[in-house]
Amino acid sequence: MKKTLFLLVAGLVLLTACAPAATPIKEIPLQQVHDAMPETPPQHPRLFLNDSQLPARMQTINASKELRVLHLATLKEADELITQKPVERIKTGKRLLSVSRKALGRLMTLSWAYRSTGDKKYLQRAEQEMLAIAAFSDWNPSHFLDVAEMTTAMAIGYDWLYHSLSETSRRTIRQAILEKGINPSLYKNKRPGWWISGENNWNQVCHAGITCGALAIMEDDPELAETIVHRSVNKVQIAMNEYEPDGAYPEGPGYWVYGTTFNVILLASLDSVIGTDFGLSGKNGFADCGQYLLHVTGPTGLFFNYPDSGSRQGFTPAVFWFAEKFNDPALTWHQQTIWQNAIKRKPKDLLRSRTAVFALLWASPKTTQPQALSKCFRGPNPVAMFRTSWDGDATFLAVKGGSPSVNHGHMDIGSFVIDAAGLRWAIDLGPESYNKIESRGMKLWGMHQNSERWKIFRYNNYSHNTLTVNDQFQQVKGYAPITRYSDDKDFPYTVIDMTSVYAGQLKQAVRGASLLPTGQILIQDELQADDTPTNIRWAMTTGAKVNIISDKTAILSQKKKNMQFQVVTNADVKLTTYSTAPRADYDAKNGNTCMIGFEVALKPHETAKIAVFMAVDDDKSPKLPKIQSIKNWPKASK
Ligand SMILES: [Zn+2]
Repeated sequence: MKKTLFLLVAGLVLLTACAPAATPIKEIPLQQVHDAMPETPPQHPRLFLNDSQLPARMQTINASKELRVLHLATLKEADELITQKPVERIKTGKRLLSVSRKALGRLMTLSWAYRSTGDKKYLQRAEQEMLAIAAFSDWNPSHFLDVAEMTTAMAIGYDWLYHSLSETSRRTIRQAILEKGINPSLYKNKRPGWWISGENNWNQVCHAGITCGALAIMEDDPELAETIVHRSVNKVQIAMNEYEPDGAYPEGPGYWVYGTTFNVILLASLDSVIGTDFGLSGKNGFADCGQYLLHVTGPTGLFFNYPDSGSRQGFTPAVFWFAEKFNDPALTWHQQTIWQNAIKRKPKDLLRSRTAVFALLWASPKTTQPQALSKCFRGPNPVAMFRTSWDGDATFLAVKGGSPSVNHGHMDIGSFVIDAAGLRWAIDLGPESYNKIESRGMKLWGMHQNSERWKIFRYNNYSHNTLTVNDQFQQVKGYAPITRYSDDKDFPYTVIDMTSVYAGQLKQAVRGASLLPTGQILIQDELQADDTPTNIRWAMTTGAKVNIISDKTAILSQKKKNMQFQVVTNADVKLTTYSTAPRADYDAKNGNTCMIGFEVALKPHETAKIAVFMAVDDDKSPKLPKIQSIKNWPKASK
């Protein structure tokens, strides 16, 4: 009885804290698509860059050192591919994805090499690759991303090389695009794939791939091409809605790169073949998502890598598309660094991105320094980022609210990362290996509260830079909005109301975070216990060495730099460290990391105000500003 009552109360709390409702899609009628389609299909190559645009593009490439290096690296890679065997249909677990991705990189590289040099050896090698792929029994439609990336690869190879392929090869390749790419996406007499109306990266990748395929072979069946384009431009809006209202990607920066790159491929393919993307590139949120990727990258060049995101950012040609489209060269600030570093060290690194060739089509080597030092991005998984400058040694704080229930979500609500002096101090351990977990029969993608997913250390709140109450998990269905944000240069801050994520555990949980102009970081929590005694653990994962000086002070050190760590609270706390060692045999090792933190015991209904200050500074007793209640923080600008 008591339990039922508790659940009811918890349910009420959750009801009042729902994630923002999605915008309905703006329907683009079939007639409009029909009218937009060209009467006769444009000449091959028609996708992304036609032959009349090629000479001007080659001129731009030859006039730029950066583009030339990339172009030459692509040719060198194509030369190396000549002696390699074509891909084979070998799955990893349930996926063929790594094969599809390899094929996409190879066919873009070889097709570009042929188009830019006219050397037949690249053509022959690409043809061989495509015929091998066409002979696969299927492209693994049970994991549709694999079909989508393979179709993209084949569409580009077929279209870019069309005039030089033999008629027999053409027939074989276009039949494969139709039968192994497009037709399985129609699910005739079957339940349609969930990705068609999905809200995440699958939607973007799959619609992009199938659309490229349909546009590449549109002369065979114009009506089919129209059907596919009509479906894509309507359904992709469901995934594009997720960027609302400010451009943040709920699945984090790693999946931004994946989903957004293919979204851009979809829009650019439509633009190049039909002459319009039906206004989708200007869609609210999506139009600002280049800003998101810029701000979610710290001065170290590392991402704020929530949730299933690696921290290292690779070469991302889609960023150049946004810079050109929205005439905002500052968006490429981090990309230029990646590019320059690769030129100095190893140009081949640029080709780790299988879509690197798109940079040859879209990139302009110019960049400018971004203006805003902080930015807040609301939405289903909101984040705020602050930095002291755009230099590599700036101090950077990134913090998030949101919900573990988003696709790829972790129990990381309230979590943050910190960069300072060119190093990362507060870290997110990142994703687990999907295949390792799945191959044990664990339900990695179950998102309910009791799912096995949350037993994975890297996925639950035990490993994140946030609070753990009475050893319990955060509430999957909770949603922590950013309730206030200010970019005032004297006191930029954000406030996240985490209460619903701790429903049934705490009466109130509000986290304020600020990066002061002095470079000091403030994480301030205002908490109230429910009607039972409550233990709250505050913790932060770091790769630095932790030296605890007193109950409330510590020094974190790495690479001869020191970070002063200081807790200011009336509560009785004692700093300690917690291990990040794997909890179970399926957990990944976490290298040389640990957590610094402390526990607070609250009586029923008792409140606590806890401020943690951090700054990279050799001053062991830095002057701290007066602690103010979050409600008294200066009026927010947003
Ligand atoms: Zn995480």
